[in-house]
Amino acid sequence: MIRIDTIGALIEYRYDLSVHCHAWDCRNGGRVDLEALALRLGKGHGCLAKDLKRHFRCSKCGSRDVGFILSPCTNSLAAIASAPMQELRTVKR
Ligand SMILES: [Zn+2]
Repeated sequence: MIRIDTIGALIEYRYDLSVHCHAWDCRNGGRVDLEALALRLGKGHGCLAKDLKRHFRCSKCGSRDVGFILSPCTNSLAAIASAPMQELRTVKR
């Protein structure tokens, strides 16, 4: 079983990480630049919320109460979605 528990693993397996402010009425959030985060914390640093939370602060309201959402990279999903189309094109030739 593959363990995706480090920043390096997120990059390797093309995951997207976004961070969101939990402060009332703030709603700030955005995608985390994993390459920049890896340069700062190291690729071996844990990527669970408990590992990352202390390194983040909301840029809008200053709150440290943030949450994370991990998702497969939309770029790689687009590549998978377009794969059958490429196969069809190859068959036509
Ligand atoms: Zn905020």
